[in-house]
Amino acid sequence: MKDYYKTLGVDKSASKDNIKKAFRKLAHEHHPDKNKNNPESAQKFKEASEAYSVLSDDSKRQQYDQFGSAGPGGGGFNGGAGGFNPNDFGGFDFSGFQQGNGGVEFDLGDLFGDLFGGGRGRQARQQRGRDISIDISLSFEESIFGAEKDVIVSKTSSCLTCEGSGAAPGSGMETCKICNGKGKVNETRRSFIGVFNTVKVCENCHGKGQVPKEKCPTCHGHGVVDRQQEISVKIPSGIEDGEMVRLNGMGEAVSAGVPGDMYVRIHVKPHLYLRKEGFNLVTDIKAKLTQAIIGGEQTIKLLAPDGDLILKIPEGANNGDILRIKGKGVPNERGKRGDLLVRINIEMPRKLSKTAKKAIEELRNEGL
Ligand code: ZN
Repeated sequence: MKDYYKTLGVDKSASKDNIKKAFRKLAHEHHPDKNKNNPESAQKFKEASEAYSVLSDDSKRQQYDQFGSAGPGGGGFNGGAGGFNPNDFGGFDFSGFQQGNGGVEFDLGDLFGDLFGGGRGRQARQQRGRDISIDISLSFEESIFGAEKDVIVSKTSSCLTCEGSGAAPGSGMETCKICNGKGKVNETRRSFIGVFNTVKVCENCHGKGQVPKEKCPTCHGHGVVDRQQEISVKIPSGIEDGEMVRLNGMGEAVSAGVPGDMYVRIHVKPHLYLRKEGFNLVTDIKAKLTQAIIGGEQTIKLLAPDGDLILKIPEGANNGDILRIKGKGVPNERGKRGDLLVRINIEMPRKLSKTAKKAIEELRNEGL
């Protein structure tokens, strides 16, 4: 005799809830969709289904507990007329299965839901349009200060003629005859494991419950059309190469339901000598030996809004010293800017003239 409790891994005293949980777990694990070429899993799935079909039913469980089988022959579990014989399914197409007749019939709609593709449990899921993605290239400057870019996107959008209603202008709507205004239809599916009742969005009215009396000539009643659209994309300051900007609801529209999102992938052209490090801009300069020793000035061309910077190199600068110019960095969302960091690289002269050498020798005599 098969031990159904052992199959599901539960106690004899397990509650209905725990039995359901145990089965759900096993069914997930050994679901045929996930284990197509795994006969062991298929077998486990079969056994778990069989065990569950008995233990989830109060009277069958009682019978099983008492007699060790779930049904007295005809109409019972073990293969009576119209019954459901779990030992018989060769494949997963259980066309011989009949509803009713005391066979094993249980509604898995709420139990499986997501397992068998399709709606989540008994709820018809709201439709959502597809996400779309585009690429935008920015100059370094635009990436630092933010930008607004107009792009032309071809996508399924709300129809302009009927404003998405699907009705010809002036014609109005009427109740959908297929779903009687509910927007949903019940669908019964049979499979080797039982009968599934799922709720689907009505295809006639796309879940709206209403259909146009006269269809819109532009979108033929769909409420959406494929068209080109100009979209203005606001790009925040301080964005980096490879980052994504999401525009909620700017993806493709659907007849009924919510539109998807639009993703904008940002590409930033690198700058010749400036780089972004967090909220700071960083650059390297070359300083002459004399500039480092007695100080000096150098002009750095900054990003357009900042113009030119006359950088003062202080007396006695060392190689690798970093000068901080406040407020010339990357703006944050409140407009406050980070700093510009300038690193000094001192260039040693490779050759000295006689005069220069003499001057240096004087420095040496001073102990420098
Ligand atoms: Zn239309």
